[in-house]
Amino acid sequence: MQKYYYQCVDCGQEIETSEVVYLCPDCKIQNNQNQPPKGVLRTLYHYTKISKSFKEIEKNDFLDLLPISKIESLPNLRVGKTPMYLIKNIDNEDLNFGLYFKDDAQNPTFSFKDRASAIVSAWAKENGIDTIIAASTGNAGSSLAGICAAQKQKAIIYVPSSAPKAKLTQIVMYGAKLITVAGTYDQAFDMSLAATEKHGFYNRNTAFNPFTIEGKKTVSFEMYSQMNEQVADRIFVPVGDGVIISGVFKGFEDLLKMGYIEKMPVIVAVQSEGSKNIVANIHQKEFTIYPSKTVADSISVDIPRNYFMAVDYLKKYNGETVLVSDSEILQASKTLSNNTGIFSEPASVASFAGFLKYKSENRIPEKSKNIVLLTGSGLKDLNSVQCLITLPDAVKPN
Ligand SMILES: *Cc1c(COP(=O)(O)O)cnc(C)c1O
Repeated sequence: MQKYYYQCVDCGQEIETSEVVYLCPDCKIQNNQNQPPKGVLRTLYHYTKISKSFKEIEKNDFLDLLPISKIESLPNLRVGKTPMYLIKNIDNEDLNFGLYFKDDAQNPTFSFKDRASAIVSAWAKENGIDTIIAASTGNAGSSLAGICAAQKQKAIIYVPSSAPKAKLTQIVMYGAKLITVAGTYDQAFDMSLAATEKHGFYNRNTAFNPFTIEGKKTVSFEMYSQMNEQVADRIFVPVGDGVIISGVFKGFEDLLKMGYIEKMPVIVAVQSEGSKNIVANIHQKEFTIYPSKTVADSISVDIPRNYFMAVDYLKKYNGETVLVSDSEILQASKTLSNNTGIFSEPASVASFAGFLKYKSENRIPEKSKNIVLLTGSGLKDLNSVQCLITLPDAVKPN
């Protein structure tokens, strides 16, 4: 028996195969370009047959709950295992609740995306695949390029030409084939799908490849472990395509199914007012596109690729949603850096802006434990914060 199988988020059918599979074959037929894709697959395990404690699973890097056979298939880089910091005060105000920052900028290519790239790349390695393709707003592409370099695999990356220069530079430095598209992320996504269909390259596109969600869920296992096997009350997550947040839900859901935990944390989806296609549509019958324009490029998405799964999780586990403006994001960025020594890119710090909004509305209960998930390094996008600062003129060296 294979250790994992798939379940379609939309029609619920279960699929067991060891071949490459992306969307549910029945649901993908209905898909059209102006709607989020149906048929994203959730990867499931034979939970009740794994009779091990959390500590035992953790000791083996959670291999029992991953779709790969050997830990050695993963890149020889430290992916995940990122620090989580407890912060006791902000701007000289002592906090009467717990505030933790889970800093996923400290991944090999400086973003959360490495968690997904590592699992996709390891699966490819175990299945004799040597070329992986992806479309990206920048971070997924730079991540796949870096992970593939470590694994001696080839990467082909489609990115909008407007992506921050640091991200484009990373892709080329890691030796991937970079295709910049004079268009949006959504257009780059469609181009990469066409290339996959034509040439059969293995595709890492977020949500389209179900293992992206499996890679991302490992952050929840770590947060649970770092909280001494307790579940946080609230976790703030920045949301674009809705894969990171689905991964966070999925990780805790796996822990629930294993019987390690009894309740889910409240998971808060934070989007930018300028890119709000999950938060603004969640209670609507028909999905309408609010065209995206925001300083937070990594969460700037017109058609969220994991819309239906993210909405399903938010509704099932009483998740919450909040929107933040670009100026709130940039202000939060400065507050974060000043108070913690962590410098985060705008999309990443959107989660902290969401937290600050909750705090200003007195929605953070006393003694509660709150985690803000930080997803990318500030060095990836220096331009967007220049409006906040002035670099001093040089003084004469005398
Ligand atoms: C990709 C990304 C996100 C959003 O993740 P989704 O899965 O698209 O919702 C948030 N922050 C950063 C830095 C990212 O690169």
